Amino acid sequence: MRFHVLTLFPEMVLDGLNTSIIGRAIQSGKIGLEAVNIRDFATNKHMKVDDYPYGGGAGMVMQAEPVYLAYQSVAERISVIAETSKKPRVVYLTPQGSVFNQRMAEDLSKEEDLIFLCGHYEGIDERVLEMIVTDHVSIGDYVLTGGELPAMVMIDTISRLVEGVLHNDDSARYESFAENRLEYPQYTRPEEFMGRKVPEVLLSGNHAKIAEWREEESLKRTRERRPDLL
Ligand code: SAM
Repeated sequence: MRFHVLTLFPEMVLDGLNTSIIGRAIQSGKIGLEAVNIRDFATNKHMKVDDYPYGGGAGMVMQAEPVYLAYQSVAERISVIAETSKKPRVVYLTPQGSVFNQRMAEDLSKEEDLIFLCGHYEGIDERVLEMIVTDHVSIGDYVLTGGELPAMVMIDTISRLVEGVLHNDDSARYESFAENRLEYPQYTRPEEFMGRKVPEVLLSGNHAKIAEWREEESLKRTRERRPDLL
């Protein structure tokens, strides 16, 4: 799976994702990540990519042309590599989109290529969004300064679902939100920490009993913390 991020701050995306599990997945070629600088597609001599909003109001708006040219260069490259004329999915990170969740991550993880478009300032000229965006996605009901952190959140989540990225693919299958539940509590050594003991059943070696206990705890936790999932 290959991620292509259109952004004014490519180093933020590359630095942010190039560590730990996702960093290793990039280095081993399980996933691909490129960050394309929208500013490289500015056509004026000051490399300006934003301007004042028509109709007035606060802030600046990213212009349509450099965004379109950046998209076009990536889309053309994808169609050559993937030998297809199918248009790639383009996710625009926006507080006005559907709120991201595990189900969306599973759906997006089936794509070979995904383009993420990161806005900044007051956002992006609506005309280019109408032309290229297939999915409008928010990471929650709050406003950030740019789409880079949301894109990183989504890429991290989706990458974990790509085969071979996690050491054990079962990790993703039995986690929170699988089957609309939160995961059961986890413990590791030592058996006792500041007077608090690991639940007896986890030390019993009885796998059926452990599975039963985990199932109960998972349900209890979901009822307490996220009843909306049930
Ligand atoms: N003026 C826009 C509005 O009111 O909807 C907000 C623009 S925001 C300051 C700048 C950029 O940050 C957006 O274009 C988007 O790419 C990104 N962004 C901000 N909050 C986000 C969120 N909750 N989810 C996804 N992207 C977000």
